[in-house]
Amino acid sequence: MIGDLERGRTLAGYCSQEQKFVYIFWPYEQKAPEPVRVWDAKTGATLELYKCPDDDGLFLPITDVTQIKYCPRCHHEGVEAEPYANAD
Ligand SMILES: [Zn+2]
Repeated sequence: MIGDLERGRTLAGYCSQEQKFVYIFWPYEQKAPEPVRVWDAKTGATLELYKCPDDDGLFLPITDVTQIKYCPRCHHEGVEAEPYANAD
């Protein structure tokens, strides 16, 4: 449930404060939420973080679930994630 849906767009990520996956959704006719931008000195990339819908934590959106390589809770390598489509 990441990306463009029938009625709007969604972003998902992991809230480290709550230790759970979260997502935000906004209809196409509404302006997208404004991210907090931070520069990552290790890669030189500018990361866009979004506010968690449940608390004041931030999350980094997962753009492709197959890129998840580590469990966010135990940090062990080898997480298997499969993308799926949700027709809503
Ligand atoms: Zn949260």
